Amino acid sequence: MSDISTQLIHHTYQPPAGFEAVNPAVHKASTVIFPNVAALRQRDWKHKTGYTYGLHGTPTTFTLEERIATLEGGTYCTLVPSGLAAVALVGMAFLKAGDEVLIPDNAYGPNKTFAQHELTGWGVSFRYYDPMQPVDLAAKLSGKTRLVWLEAPGSITLEFPDLPALVAVVKAHTDVHAECIVTALDNTWGAGIAFDAFALGADISVQALTKYPSGGADVLMGSVVTRDEALHHRVHFCHMRVGYGVAGNDAELVLRGLGSMALRYAAQDGATRTLAAWLQQQPQVEAVLHPALPGSPGHAVWQRDCSAAACLMSVVFRPGYAQAAVDLFCDSLRLFRLGYSWAGPMSLCAPYDIPAIRTTAWPYKGGLVRFSIGLEAVADLQADLAQALASMQYS
Ligand SMILES: *Cc1c(COP(=O)(O)O)cnc(C)c1O
Repeated sequence: MSDISTQLIHHTYQPPAGFEAVNPAVHKASTVIFPNVAALRQRDWKHKTGYTYGLHGTPTTFTLEERIATLEGGTYCTLVPSGLAAVALVGMAFLKAGDEVLIPDNAYGPNKTFAQHELTGWGVSFRYYDPMQPVDLAAKLSGKTRLVWLEAPGSITLEFPDLPALVAVVKAHTDVHAECIVTALDNTWGAGIAFDAFALGADISVQALTKYPSGGADVLMGSVVTRDEALHHRVHFCHMRVGYGVAGNDAELVLRGLGSMALRYAAQDGATRTLAAWLQQQPQVEAVLHPALPGSPGHAVWQRDCSAAACLMSVVFRPGYAQAAVDLFCDSLRLFRLGYSWAGPMSLCAPYDIPAIRTTAWPYKGGLVRFSIGLEAVADLQADLAQALASMQYS
């Protein structure tokens, strides 16, 4: 081995064993090296007992999967490249042509568009149900239903549904019809901290690790967690076949975020409640939607089932403020920046047109702005909101 290229690629140095640091090592691989042909032939990518190919996991991604499973109170975790990929993977794993999926009307928007465009193309139908009315879910279950999505609270409008009641409706249906229907919860808001998804009855919990577990607003990742081995295998084998791998550096970022996650969740929860209560008293505001506020839809259920709330709230303005005034309010904010996603260090906001994105009745006429409260000082955020509210013209 005289050639320097060969020497540098096939170098024989092995560092001493026993190194230990606070954070796990970042392993990066497409190729994983086997010691001999017998080991290559006996490779097992199904049970995390060894390594076969980067797509099927490294020590870094296995470590993150175990920690996310613990966070959610689950047993098995599969990582995917984004929260939306987690939603799509569940659909691909459990639905085939002729099946139907039921989705809450207030679900995360791209969950609905995945059903509208991809699932329908594959012969899978979808229907929306009103998550605040378990009887509506009961009416929409049919012999074709194979997957029921749950989300708590609803995206943007933040109604908190009665998850045990919705799960009970599904169970009552499957008991009578002896069919298998999987319930999958988008648990990004609760994040494994506000409530126990499995204790409330979900079969599968997905999360956008992009949000709280990362906490940095700089990485995309998702997870699919379950307690059931058979369900896990459906998800896991589909994951192998569609090639939803995650990169070691991205896994590292989420592992770093996990250590401070519970503290961030609590800090952002407190700040959001303070600002929500203050906003409720401002003359420009018709309603503040936040499950911990009395009067917000599903508040009593939130109180029964949750020990905390995430950093999201939505403000509905009085109908006398035209959309242009609401837009000017958003543009006048200095600390709150305009952008999607949430649970990062920087406070964000975005206006939404709710009647355009839901089929169930919407009681308000005024414009809505959704806020994600970051980690800035609450007094500074309140002052920013106050100066932007002052910019609003009543028409
Ligand atoms: C952000 C989000 C997702 C998707 O996560 P990405 O990583 O951005 O794809 C899914 N569900 C909810 C409720 C979200 O807020």
